[in-house]
Amino acid sequence: MMLILHSMCINVLRMLSRKLLMLLHPIRKCDWNGCGEEFPSHAALGIHIRNHRAKNCYCQWGDCDYTCDSPLILELHIYEEHSV
Ligand SMILES: [Zn+2]
Ligand SMILES: [Zn+2]
Repeated sequence: MMLILHSMCINVLRMLSRKLLMLLHPIRKCDWNGCGEEFPSHAALGIHIRNHRAKNCYCQWGDCDYTCDSPLILELHIYEEHSV
């Protein structure tokens, strides 16, 4: 029981520190295939990324070469791996 609670705490802490990082660094840069556009908020970048994603089902963030066959899976990948 203690162990389960502990791992839950770690997950929550990870989530919070990621959120905190976003708050501390409000300017977000798009790193999609050398795009380089900057956005005042994480939400604005998320909307922008959607335009990139709409065209294909592979990730071009930085030097990432992740591919999949569904836009939804790609969205999850981008959220999990690149915090976008
Ligand atoms: Zn971009
Ligand atoms: Zn990726």
